[in-house]
Order: sequence, then C-alpha cells, then structure tokens
Amino acid sequence: MRKAVEGLIAQHGLAGKMHEADEMFRQLCGIEAIGLFALHTCINHSCDSNCEAQTYCYSTAALDVVALRTIVAGEEITISYIDKKLPVFQRRARLRRHYLFDCHCGKCLSEM
Ligand SMILES: [Zn+2]
Repeated sequence: MRKAVEGLIAQHGLAGKMHEADEMFRQLCGIEAIGLFALHTCINHSCDSNCEAQTYCYSTAALDVVALRTIVAGEEITISYIDKKLPVFQRRARLRRHYLFDCHCGKCLSEM
C-alpha cells in the first residue's frame, strides 16, 4: 500500500508537497483518511474536548493531536469522536450507536 501511495504521489509530481498530495487523495478516494493509530485510540471522548486529531494520513501516515485551548497539568486529554456542534440528543445518539456508550461530559450534562 505504501509503495502504491508513493507511486501515485511521484506520478502526479507531488513529492514533498504534503497538502497537495492529501488533497489529491481526498478527491480520488472521497474520504478524509483511514488509518490505525494506536496512541490515538487511547484518548477518551468529550463533547467539549480540549484537543482534536488532525490527519495528513496519505502523504505522511501521521496523525497529530492538537490542543484547542490551554490544558492544565493533570487535565485529561480528550478529543471528540463526533461533531461537537450537534444538539445534545444527536451527539448522544451517535455515540451510543457508533461507540456504545453514553456521554456524561460536562457539556452533555449542562445541555440535558
Ligand atoms: Zn458529551
């Protein structure tokens, strides 16, 4: 797979052009990214997450977890598994359906 990706990048003259290569793969595949990231899977969900995952998967096979706000020492790192802008009942329904848990984050509790 990696050789196929590198071949496509070279074929389109996008070697070293990370964002252009990612855009090409997004257009070809119609998806953002697919990957398995062992450390990323250890990060819990919050609808008011303090981080977000950013992928540049195709060209670098990397995933960055970026802080969305100041994180104090000892605070749990969280990301949102779903669209945080959805109403609370839709967020909770999606989390139940796709991730099999009920969210009890502060945002959900304050909106219920
Ligand atoms: Zn929540």
